[in-house]
Order: sequence, then C-alpha cells, then structure tokens
Amino acid sequence: MEFETVIGLEVHVELNTDTKIFCGCKTSFGNPPNTHVCPVCTGQPGSLPVLNERAVNMAVKAALALHCQINQDCKFDRKNYFYPDLPKGYQISQYDQPIGEHGYLEIDHNGERKRIGIARLHLEEDAGKSQHAADGSHTLVDYNRTGVPLMEIVSEPDIRTPEEARLYLEGIREIMQYCDVSDCRMEEGSLRCDANISLRPVGQQEFGQKTELKNINSFRFVQRGLEYEEQRQREVLAAGGTVRQETRRFDELSQTTLSMRSKEEAHDYRYFPEPDLVRLHIDDAWLAQIRATVPELPMEKRDRYIRQYQLPAYDAGVLTSDLAIGEYFEATVAAGAEPKAASNWVMGDLLGYLNGRGEVLADSRVTPGQLADLIAMIAEGTLSIKQAKDVFKIMCETGRDAKTVVQEEGMEQISDMAALVPLVDEVLAKNSKSVQDFLSGKEKALGALIGQVMKATKGQANPGVVNQILRDRLSALRVEE
Ligand SMILES: [Zn+2]
Repeated sequence: MEFETVIGLEVHVELNTDTKIFCGCKTSFGNPPNTHVCPVCTGQPGSLPVLNERAVNMAVKAALALHCQINQDCKFDRKNYFYPDLPKGYQISQYDQPIGEHGYLEIDHNGERKRIGIARLHLEEDAGKSQHAADGSHTLVDYNRTGVPLMEIVSEPDIRTPEEARLYLEGIREIMQYCDVSDCRMEEGSLRCDANISLRPVGQQEFGQKTELKNINSFRFVQRGLEYEEQRQREVLAAGGTVRQETRRFDELSQTTLSMRSKEEAHDYRYFPEPDLVRLHIDDAWLAQIRATVPELPMEKRDRYIRQYQLPAYDAGVLTSDLAIGEYFEATVAAGAEPKAASNWVMGDLLGYLNGRGEVLADSRVTPGQLADLIAMIAEGTLSIKQAKDVFKIMCETGRDAKTVVQEEGMEQISDMAALVPLVDEVLAKNSKSVQDFLSGKEKALGALIGQVMKATKGQANPGVVNQILRDRLSALRVEE
C-alpha cells in the first residue's frame, strides 16, 4: 500500500526585545542564573504584568510577513499547569484569539514554489530553564528566561516530506531575521521546533494517527528525525500494526527517534482570560505604522534578483538566504561590478573564506567597493582570474585594497607586448620540439608553449596576449619554412 506523509510544525521564536514581555527585566542570554528576575516574572503575590509594546510590534510585524490576518482586538489567557520552571503556576498565552491567523509561507522545492499554510501565530511568555544534575540527585532552576517574549507559529498540516519541513523551518528563520524580530539561534533556544507527523493511505481524507517529535535543536535534525519517523511509521502500518499516539525525541547518537511518553489523553489546561491584563486593541493607525516596517521579504527579493540581475535561481537563493549577504552583493553591484561576477565572488571566494574560519559577513575586512575594484581589474585584463584569487586572499587577511596588494606584491598581469615578445622568442628557441610539432599540425603543442611563457613570468603574463604573440611568431616561422 502507498502512504502519504502529513507533517505540521509548531515553531517557537524568542523575540529580541531588550526587556521581558510583562516586566522590565533584561532578556540577555548567558548571564549568571537568576540575575534577571523580579516579583512579576517570578509570580510573587500582588505583582501585576504590564504588556511590552515592542513585543506586540514585533509579533504583528512577523505575522504580517507571514501573510496573516491580524486580530486587531484580542486578549491574553492563562494556560494553567504546574512545572518548577513556571513559578506562577500558569503561563500567560493566547488561546482562542491569537494575534495572527490564516497566513502562509512559501518554499521553493525542486524548482517549484509551494505554499504552506500558517494556522495561527500567538504571543506568550517563555518559561524558565531546569538544569538536571547529571547524577540525577537534584535539579536547579534558572528564571532568567521566564517571561522572555515568545511567538508560537503553528503551520497547517500542509507539509508532505521531511525535506519540505526543513525548508519551511529555514523559511521561518529567514523571515524572522529579515524582520529583525529574533536572532533565531537554535543552539541557544531562541528558535525551537516540535513536529507532528502521520501517514495515511494515498487517497484517504482523514489523517492517520500522529506522533510528536519534541525539542528538535537543529535544521538537519528536523529532516533526519522526520525521515526516521516516517520510515518507522511506514513499517508499522505495512505490517498491519497501529501507530501509538506518543511524544518522541530524536536521538543524535543513534540517529533514531525514541519514545518519551505516551499521550493517551489531551491535556486540559483550563484556559481562562488573564484578568490582570486589559484586552489588546491595535487600531488602524498603529497597524499601519507596523506594516510600514515590514521589509522586502526573502521570496520577493529572490524573484527580483532573477529579474533585475538576470541571476540563476540558485545564486538568487544563496544571496537572499541572509539579509547581510544580499546587502553585500547589492552594494558590490552598486559599486560597478557586473552582477554575475559579483555573485560568483560573494558566493564562492568570500563566503568560502569566511566559512573556513567560522566567521560571518560582518567580520569581512573586504568592503563591497574593494571587491568591485578587484572585479574591474579582471575585466580590464590587469589581473587573471587566478591572480585575482591570490590577491583576494591577501585582501581578506589584511583589509588592503586590490591595487595596493597588486603593487606591493608585484602581481600585476603583464600585457605589454614589448615585455612579452622577447620572452616568447626565448621560449620558442628553447622548445624546438614543440615548435616542430605545432608546425606539423599539432595544435596541442601551442598549449605547452603558452605554459612555458606563463612559467617564465610566474603566471603573470596575460594568456590572451601570449597566445596572440605565439601565433604571430609561429605563422612567421611557417612562412619562412
Ligand atoms: Zn521580571
């Protein structure tokens, strides 16, 4: 029997506000435990929450970028449960009136654009962090994260393959970074993902029994974990068994998923409206103000790069995968570089150099203007591509511009006929065998002669000019014969 896979993702995104969602405590990551806490975020009796306006701005901005309808009149609710990292005994969240609904995100998959529905986007507070001792003797709790503003983004079950799930998650990260609402660091927990997956016979309308994959902490593991789970469920169903409703986690060591707990009944969180907060009303003027801050989105930019710069879709995808890379590329073009050449240098040499050192674009010592100058020197014939690559490496290491590097290192390409003719003659005199071969019709021998001239000039001769001089000289010899 053929099965169809159905996947839905729940993504939690920490907003990068300076302060928490309902109090003035700092949100910074990596500080000593329990140094950013106050009566509000630790739930002391009598303390009252005050909503952070910037958190609302960011959530609405993100929701607009995900094409959501904004609920301009909505409320917060209490989600009641007990856990040591939740000192209030409830989490302030949004239940039946999320700030955004009915949106979508587009992904490019195998050259086709696919729309994944977003069911809802709501605003809530993060919980603290439990640290379990390795020997199981005790647990410590850090409340620094308690009350950090969080968005929960729930997709429709529109995802059909584990690869699409990874592309969707990457798409969410791109949009959050473009909107500058989160740093989306999975390793620091500012982007977290849970996935639901089920299989059903092809053609069946109703969904199969799903399992939930919890706490996926990298983009690679989203795909790997779902691939494993898809295969596991397929084998269970093919053998006539039934999939158990349960929560599982991806185990990095064994590259498999393991059962965490069965989930026979749904939780009852006894949601009720948060009585300490007034309803949130976003009037038209406020909404318009936020709408004006939504930037050009990754997919729009991708399409524009293909249209405006005639770039291949692959280049456009890489250059727009990160806001900074796109800005660098466009600045290089604005400084006069031909777009495809600029794209090649940015994607290849520049990102290659930085990746090799574990650095990001902000660390680059080469400015877009300097890269454009280097590209111009190739176009003018001052540098060969090979020389330019050597020059570029020195530019990356020293931050000096191309002209300075070429002068200081004596790397200028030799295109001057007067300088090259005597060298060519010398090579011809020393390589009579190759000369004879060429004259007797072996075109290949020319390559060997060019190689000798390049060697004699340590690669600095302009190959095009050398080629021309050699042909002139050799045809003169042919006439003499
Ligand atoms: Zn606080």
